[in-house]
Amino acid sequence: MNRPASRIVYVNGDYVPEDEAKVSVFDRGFLMADAVYEVTSVLDGRLIDFPGHAARLARSMAELDMESPVTEAELLAIHRELVARNGIDEGLVYLQITRGNPGDRDFAFPDPARVKGSVVLFTQSKPGLADSPAAKAGIKVIGIPDIRWGRRDIKTVQLLYPSMGKMMAKKAGVDDAWFTEEGGVVTEGTSNNAYIVTDGRIVTRQLSADILHGITRAAVLRFAREAQMVVEERPFTLDEAKAAEEAFVTSASAFVMPVVEIDGAAIGTGRPGPVATRLREIYLEESRRAAM
Ligand code: PMP
Repeated sequence: MNRPASRIVYVNGDYVPEDEAKVSVFDRGFLMADAVYEVTSVLDGRLIDFPGHAARLARSMAELDMESPVTEAELLAIHRELVARNGIDEGLVYLQITRGNPGDRDFAFPDPARVKGSVVLFTQSKPGLADSPAAKAGIKVIGIPDIRWGRRDIKTVQLLYPSMGKMMAKKAGVDDAWFTEEGGVVTEGTSNNAYIVTDGRIVTRQLSADILHGITRAAVLRFAREAQMVVEERPFTLDEAKAAEEAFVTSASAFVMPVVEIDGAAIGTGRPGPVATRLREIYLEESRRAAM
């Protein structure tokens, strides 16, 4: 196994070597997937879109009646400390907050006054994240049924079906999968938001409980509108996507990633298109400028 060098991770107030980090077997994150998370990318040793990720974390916790054991200012300080201690230039910071360890297994939520949530953060170094070969070639996806629960707007760690989706993609010899509902309507990718470009317009599904409210999505749509591109927030089908001029996905760790093939059908020229390529450039440039 190709393991990264030992990292310093953060667990409930302490910075410890990864081999010494401990979470209880009774932690509800472990037993019930009763936990939320965020992934913030790091470029030039600085955090991309941190305020957006912090705001979505607060919203996820509020939707689940979870009380945050840390403030946003504390979280920012922990992120920065981990980036510094692990010498991250390009990569990401993973953050997870669980409902904590009630000392036993029970479906009912513990009293938050008695049981504090667990907070875990760690870094992943990813040199070449921005200058990615995948972004130059584009990725291939397949469509698979969306059988996830109905609150996909809450960023929980219930990632079994998205993991299965990645495995279905791998088995089909492609890079990722797009989830589809009745009538072949696309919701989003396994770990990203999905877009097409048709008649020169950028089309992506509108926000609702059906999809995660991507932080990269919000930034990319803002930059697209500022660049006078036309954005349409509406559902689209996999068939419409196959006939589109371009397709792409966005996420905190992939930024803007062109999609060049869906279910074996080449999209447009079968090469990354000008809209996705331009949006990736603008996103990286603007995000680097605003990084903290
Ligand atoms: N949808 C899903 C299902 C995801 O898991 C993610 C990434 N966590 C996204 C969309 C993209 O969100 P963001 O841009 O905030 O990373």
